[in-house]
Amino acid sequence: MRDLDELAQIPFTVKQQLLDDQVGNPPFGTNLTYPVERYTHLHLTSGTVGDQLRVPQTAEDWEATRACFALVLQAAGITSCDRVALPFSFGPYLQFWAATAGVQEIGALALTLGGMEGRERLRAMAEFGATAIICTPSYALTLIEVADRWGLTGAFDQVRTVICQGEPGASITAARERIEAAWGARVFDHAGSTEVGVFTYPCPAGGLHVNEHAFLCEVLDPHTGAPVGEGGQGELVLSALQRRGYPVIRFRGGDVVDVGGTCPAGHEHIWLPNGIVGRTDDMVVVRGMNVFPSAIEATLREVGVLGGYRIRFYTEAAERDEIRVLVESTDPQLVGRIEESVFHRLGLRVRVVPVMPGTLAAERPKARRVEDLRQRRSPRR
Ligand SMILES: [Zn+2]
Repeated sequence: MRDLDELAQIPFTVKQQLLDDQVGNPPFGTNLTYPVERYTHLHLTSGTVGDQLRVPQTAEDWEATRACFALVLQAAGITSCDRVALPFSFGPYLQFWAATAGVQEIGALALTLGGMEGRERLRAMAEFGATAIICTPSYALTLIEVADRWGLTGAFDQVRTVICQGEPGASITAARERIEAAWGARVFDHAGSTEVGVFTYPCPAGGLHVNEHAFLCEVLDPHTGAPVGEGGQGELVLSALQRRGYPVIRFRGGDVVDVGGTCPAGHEHIWLPNGIVGRTDDMVVVRGMNVFPSAIEATLREVGVLGGYRIRFYTEAAERDEIRVLVESTDPQLVGRIEESVFHRLGLRVRVVPVMPGTLAAERPKARRVEDLRQRRSPRR
């Protein structure tokens, strides 16, 4: 390839191909540039045994991973003066080790809080004077509850930055205000994957940028493969430029993003104003619109739905696809509030049906919260 325009002629890479290769050629597959002796790091993707991808990295690859995470921290305003709490159990997953390496790369103090319960972590954060924390939005919320219950809110006193990872942007949007209020800190998001690395950094004006120093980025319509321009929505396709040991070119990781113009801060890398908005495997096309159940779920939590719920896609007599949301509630005003919030946030009309508390859980204990009962799928765009 001599020109970037020729990139489109290179086939996509999907995780299943890499997995199949490793199943056929254990333990690491054939996608290795060098003999195994050259590699220094091994990480696995999350998932069940059998679909866990093994991604080896050389020392040079790991150097690039560290630099990508350092950029995330710098964009969030972290400096060498910070003390960053890392409340992870680590395990074989890239994100935790990359976060730790990134903190060390910028010269901040890494407070590794593995193998501890929430209470111990909060006590350690208070004692060590943590000024920042990296965790999932759900865990930031959990720590608020633990701190309230045990009188440990002093752990938040010096924290001014919460960097979220590991969950889609929708859940961060829902949790952001609560985290920012309780922690008295600013929340930043970022995204990465074991397959290609940490490919974004947060924009202080909101949303994310793709790190185009380290990644070639395309945003394509997931059905037609056509490039999506400013204002459009599509699937992120990434080529990792700095990972030579386990090269992944035009990787379709399934992340769906909105493409922004120039960000208010004037950064030149592609701007994703809403972060990762969903996943292609989670996406349902209703009346020509891409709908993410995860975004509806996030809105339900925002409105204060605490009990069970079910999101049901179905076809009406007129062959019109509809969305019904069953919610366990006795609050007569909740219906209107949910319908309004979902429409306001997602531009979607849904029908909310209140049901008696306990019925959704009792019906089927491990029932899926999303059901697609449509008779015919909407035509693919
Ligand atoms: Zn920006």
